[in-house]
Amino acid sequence: MNPVHVESGSGVLAVHWEDGSDSAFTHAQLRAACPCSECRAIRRAGGIVSAAAGVRLSAIEPAGANALNLAFSDGHARGIYPFALLAELVRQPACAAPAR
Ligand SMILES: [Zn+2]
Repeated sequence: MNPVHVESGSGVLAVHWEDGSDSAFTHAQLRAACPCSECRAIRRAGGIVSAAAGVRLSAIEPAGANALNLAFSDGHARGIYPFALLAELVRQPACAAPAR
């Protein structure tokens, strides 16, 4: 499933999916889920990727047809987030979009 529209504001990234559903991710949540090799190595070693609550997305760039390259205000910009990863994050309860 792919997003048709992504917008960022107030520390939250809103994703509108092609099936009409919406998801919202806090920037800190996305930072903590960074899939870059560096962050994966931290998790593999049993650590937790630290994300300050105040961290913000500083750039959102397409990375190929099926992913986004997200850059953060803490200078971390290596994470390529496949849409499949975002869809996976949606299933975690903290990510449910608020009811409208
Ligand atoms: Zn990372």
